[in-house]
Amino acid sequence: MASATGQADVIVLGAGIVGVSVALHLQERGRRVLLVDRGEPGAETSHGNAGLIERSSVVPYAFPRDLATLASFASNRSIAVRYRPAALLRMAPWLARYWWNSAPNRLDKLGGAILPLIERCIEEHRHWTQAAGTEALMRGDGWIELYRTRRSLDLAARSAAELASYGLAYDVLDENALHRLEPGLRTGAVAGAVHWRDPVTVSDPGAVTRAYARLFVARGGSLKTGDAGDLLQGEGEWRLQADGIGWRAPEVVVALGPWSNDLCERFGYRFPVGFKRGYHMHYESGEEAAPHHPLCDARAGFVLTRMQRGVRLTTGIELAGRDEPSDSWQLDQAELVARELVSLGRRLDAEPWRGARPCLPDMLPIIGRAPRHHGLWFAFGHAHHGFTLGPVTGRLLADAMINAPTFCDIGPFAADRF
Ligand SMILES: Cc1cc2nc3c(=O)[nH]c(=O)nc-3n(C[C@H](O)[C@H](O)[C@H](O)COP(=O)(O)OP(=O)(O)OC[C@H]3O[C@@H](n4cnc5c(N)ncnc54)[C@H](O)[C@@H]3O)c2cc1C
Repeated sequence: MASATGQADVIVLGAGIVGVSVALHLQERGRRVLLVDRGEPGAETSHGNAGLIERSSVVPYAFPRDLATLASFASNRSIAVRYRPAALLRMAPWLARYWWNSAPNRLDKLGGAILPLIERCIEEHRHWTQAAGTEALMRGDGWIELYRTRRSLDLAARSAAELASYGLAYDVLDENALHRLEPGLRTGAVAGAVHWRDPVTVSDPGAVTRAYARLFVARGGSLKTGDAGDLLQGEGEWRLQADGIGWRAPEVVVALGPWSNDLCERFGYRFPVGFKRGYHMHYESGEEAAPHHPLCDARAGFVLTRMQRGVRLTTGIELAGRDEPSDSWQLDQAELVARELVSLGRRLDAEPWRGARPCLPDMLPIIGRAPRHHGLWFAFGHAHHGFTLGPVTGRLLADAMINAPTFCDIGPFAADRF
């Protein structure tokens, strides 16, 4: 018996925040969309992150170029940035390009390209908040960056002042002012903080992504289980088996987060993706002690966020292969430091969660058409800011796909820059 067939205008591969957002935007433009994931929506990187919709991140996360910072990483004892020596060797060409792109003049240009997306990140999430019922998961009033010494606080205050032209709302807080906002912080633990007031935080990023996916389905979209690796190119169409149905569509979008290159390589595209891995763990915490805002320890690079499940500690960067086994050192060390800052109860997860931030060496995602395949589109490589930029990426790509004017130049994100 012939198997059932389905027809869509677009197949979106990957139901993380990026794929779900692309699917919703295409649907809003009248496209019949099939959204495919091998698991539940929002169960991978879009679940495990720190939950920041990072409106204040107006400068990309550059490769450090000052000798003091580089020297602090060299011993591989930095809690903020750790590496597997063997991985570092493999990643050397990527690291060299990342370093090159981090020179001040290039960074200015790259930051200028992504700025229109950062500027819209909150309103693009809010575009769906009401319909998806996610208001209760979103908190305004930003996040707080903690500094141990007066000197590091003064330096941070000067760096913040240098961003004046971006019009960001922030306060530099001495210890007393900080304690008024965060009474659970231990006295004497830090010298002060910078409070970035524009960003929004969510208390369960996976649940937000799932709610957006439910909205897509409620509006008539198809969400199916399937393996993107089965994608085939036929005569003027793309084919994929999902939930026992043979789907066909003239266009397909790859939004597979850290796994995007696996599929792209099958079609002859090899993008220079480096992985900055990260871990999280939840902790029990009393109402009094739990942070009111996400707290970022500037030196140790971790973030403490009050989530639905408990206080989530997300670590900084581990440079390693995407699938190499986990190493508990960074999380264990971050936890020791975190316990000096706030009162944390027992661990709530049996194992630390681990994920990977896929980064292109110019710090920009790939958003746009595949250079050599008709009807193939890309949306991945969002590094530190995929949860922030998912919805706005959806708008940009969907407009490009229907040939509508885009709110900013999509050129800097083109795949053929590599
Ligand atoms: C520790 C950490 C903290 C972070 N904190 C923040 C933060 O505070 N703010 C922020 O903006 N960003 C943050 N990020 C980054 C952010 O989480 C990611 O950029 C974002 O979630 C990427 O979304 P995505 O949709 O591209 O990928 P994912 O959420 O990983 O989605 C990819 C989807 O593809 C599916 N998939 C993979 N392979 C296949 C296949 N073969 N077939 C079918 N489906 C497949 C997966 O199941 C998954 O659902 C953080 C990341 C980490 C690791």
